[in-house]
Amino acid sequence: MIQMNEHRQEKNSQYFIVDSTAIIHHFIFERKIDDNEVLIIPEILKEEIISFQAKSNLALLSEERQIIFATPTESAVSLVTNSAKESGDYSSLSKTDLNVIALSQDYPNSVVLSDDNAVQNVCNKLNVKFQSFQFKIKHQREYFWKCTVCGSKFKQKVDSCPDCGSPTKRYYKKK
Ligand SMILES: [Zn+2]
Repeated sequence: MIQMNEHRQEKNSQYFIVDSTAIIHHFIFERKIDDNEVLIIPEILKEEIISFQAKSNLALLSEERQIIFATPTESAVSLVTNSAKESGDYSSLSKTDLNVIALSQDYPNSVVLSDDNAVQNVCNKLNVKFQSFQFKIKHQREYFWKCTVCGSKFKQKVDSCPDCGSPTKRYYKKK
């Protein structure tokens, strides 16, 4: 297991950035591995993983794979945050999710491994390659929130309509 903080990439390696669902749901183990495959895991994910199963998955991974634990640069995090706010995905993303996507900016030519729709959507928007094990969204989605009573639309998440106080619902349009 390699541990380093600077974002250095070896030429012939293929870097995959992994989110917590990959670890928790174990699907990372079912992939065929190449010797030149390196997994990048956000440092912060260690805090998120609390279940015994997920912890032992991570320990097992560390033995079998080349792993880098990394923290994304602040500029990458703010770029991704802005992008996620624009697409309406921000409220669906955990801090770890944001770190996963941000690391793709620090490691160009890496691939994000995630089954999370919001993560995939922001990756799409930023032209970041991603792979999923279950499904890929085919179109870029743009979310918006709409008041269930007066029909006012909002680009950001609001729990109740500022115009009439009624609850809102999330919708999306395909781009
Ligand atoms: Zn309203």
